[in-house]
This record gives sequence, structure tokens and C-alpha cells, in this order.
Amino acid sequence: MLWWGLLLFCFKLGSRRDLDYKLRDLELCVLANLNQLAQTQQSTLPVHKTLDHFLGHVGSAALADLRNRCVRRLIRNKVLDRFRFDAQFVIATDGTGYLVFKERHCPHCLEHSNGSSLYYLHPVLEAKIVHSSGLAISIGTEFIENPLSERPQPTSAKLTDYEAVKQDCELKAFLRLAPQLKAAYPQTPFCLATDSLMACGPVLRVCQEYGWSYVLTFKPGRTPALWADFQGLLKLHPQNRLTVLLPERKTRQSFRWVNDLQYVDSDKRAHIVHALICQESLEGQAQTYSWITNKRLSAANVASVATQAGRVRFKIENQGFNIQKNSGLNLEHAYSLGEDTLKCFYYLLQIAHLFLQMLERGSLLRQLARQYDSTPIGLFGSLKNIAEFLLDCFRYLQLEAEAFKPTQAFQIRLLDSS
Ligand SMILES: [Zn+2]
Repeated sequence: MLWWGLLLFCFKLGSRRDLDYKLRDLELCVLANLNQLAQTQQSTLPVHKTLDHFLGHVGSAALADLRNRCVRRLIRNKVLDRFRFDAQFVIATDGTGYLVFKERHCPHCLEHSNGSSLYYLHPVLEAKIVHSSGLAISIGTEFIENPLSERPQPTSAKLTDYEAVKQDCELKAFLRLAPQLKAAYPQTPFCLATDSLMACGPVLRVCQEYGWSYVLTFKPGRTPALWADFQGLLKLHPQNRLTVLLPERKTRQSFRWVNDLQYVDSDKRAHIVHALICQESLEGQAQTYSWITNKRLSAANVASVATQAGRVRFKIENQGFNIQKNSGLNLEHAYSLGEDTLKCFYYLLQIAHLFLQMLERGSLLRQLARQYDSTPIGLFGSLKNIAEFLLDCFRYLQLEAEAFKPTQAFQIRLLDSS
């Protein structure tokens, strides 16, 4: 049943009902292939409602654990080592309102008013391993729910406006997520790369306690006194300067930095942070980025801290959420209406997206494409098409047992170029 659910996303079917329409024809090889994949001897295929029912019994906590076990195995087997920065995995966190309902769907929906209409949201805070090549692997998830609504309130009661509480929600969700991440990956070295919302005392304390590095977006409005100190000290350290020319993109990056800034948070706790600013110009257009970090800065590392940690956090939006919303994985589709089963489907999607990234970036598909003097995208046209070819294979080609249990050990390497 789990494989049945994963195939829904691996094949990018887009809706649960399509499991019944696209996979259940008895003339096809689906049952035989599924039995091989799951190491089962089922004589019939399930219907999509059975999947929903099954997941309702399994529960989302077990699915979260399955996702963690998949990622831990990749880490332990060193599959992801080439995506480390400074020996650490760069972890980006970001929130998204992934399910939207026009009517209240459960007591936990967050209410959001856009002036004329009221919507009911199920947002989620995601933590993903990200890399400049576009890799975005889910490693932690915290669903943002409305605890106030557990006591049913009349609709005229005070609304919990998602936009108004969004930032607060995300920070609180992160503080719930962090201990789960530490428990699931106790020994794994992380470097947290997030937006300025997280550049505050509670997050710095979490990083210190767990031994995580961080590179957090630094904005004047978030921590004004720290920003003022940074600007003052920059003038006193004119030697802390590095200019990098990126010839292929005609980009000029100018870095300046200060080590050992004192920061006292809202709970009067003192922290020592380092800060950097990057002014980037490309064909007359200038952009400025700043971060605070607990990595001590020098000319030797300032550029890599900015490009391999600071700026990589955008990947969670582009490669993480956008691909999951727009490439056929259909993140914003309500695969289930059950309060917990919708979370189960969320985790299945994350696991399937992990599998798909292994396929799309794996050396096997590259080798195949190379035989035709092409790349995987060149050969198939798009990621969506790769999923369609996968579906066709599963439908029309009875895969041999050896394909699932190879007698000879072989290695699929992950590549960091796209
Ligand atoms: Zn709900």
C-alpha cells in the first residue's frame, strides 16, 4: 500500500483517483511490477479509497519516520557527501500555505481573510537539505495549526489572520521542529540557512545548544542595534574586504565582513556573531545581501559562506516548493481530507520527490542519456516527461526480478551538476 501511494507521486498522476484510472487495467504489468517492488504476492490491486483508509490507520508519525529513515540512509551511505559545505549539510527552512479550502475543513485550519473572502489554510514549515545545484531534500516538517480553534468557536469570533500571525507561527514552528531534527539526526552536522525572521535570539540559542552552524539573512529592521554596530565596525576594519569577479556571468561581488559582534537578544542573553555583506553588480544592476553567521570569517571563506550557504536558501522556494507545486507532484492538491491523512500524503510526496531527485540526478540516467549524446532533460524533454516514461515502463514492461534485486552490487552516484 505504501508503494502504491509512492507511485502516485513518482508517476506524477496528480490526483488519487488517477491511481484507479491509470494503473488498474488488468492487461497491464502494474500488478506484477508492484509485487516485485514491494516484495509482496498480492493477487489484486487496491483502489484509491483503500489507500486513504490504510494511511488513516498508519498515521502521519510513521510516515515522517519513513522519510527520516530514507534520508538517514542516504547520509550514512555518503550519497549526499558531495552536497556538503564545510563538511555540513546546508538546511533551509521556509513556510508555505500548501492547502487552501473555501470552507472550514477541520478545527486546525488557519483562517485568512483577503478582505472580501475568508480562506482556510493548512500551512507547513519545511526544513530541506539544499545545494546550489538545485537539490532540495525534505528532512523536517512541522505543520502549522491553529490551537485556538480546538475549542469550536462561532464564526463571528475573532479571526486568526494567517498573514498577521504568519511570522510568529513560522518562528514558533521552527522552535518545535528543531528538537525533532536534532532527535532524528543527532550526529549530522547542519548549517542552518534561513531568512531574517530566524535571525533572533531563540534560533541562535537552538544552534548553540545543538552544535549547528548558521548563516542567517541579516536585515536592519530585524535587529537594528546589531545592524548599527555592524555598520560602525565595518568602517574600523577596512582591510576586511574581498572582490570576486565571476567572468562567466560578468558579475562582480564585493564582500566586507566583521567578526565578533556582540548581540544581546530580547531575553538579555549575549551572543557573539560574525556578519558579512555582499554587494553584487551585474551589468549596472546592483544587489546587496547580508548575513550573520557563527562561522568565523576571513578572505578565505567569505565568498563561499555567502554563495554556498547564505544564498542557497532560495532553493527551498524554487527547487522545493515550486517544483512540488508545479511539476505534476501537485503539492497544493488535497489528496485527502482527513486531518491526519492529508499529512500522510504530504510525507509520501516528500519521499517520492526524494526518489525522483535520485533518478533525475543519478548516474544511471546520465549514462543512458550519454548513449544518445544527450542529457536526461535533453532526452525526455522535461521532468514531467521523465515521470511519464517511468509510468509507461511500469505499465507496459514487466520488469524482471533481477531489476529489483540485483545479483551484483553496483553504485548509482549522484551528480551535483544539473
Ligand atoms: Zn483543516
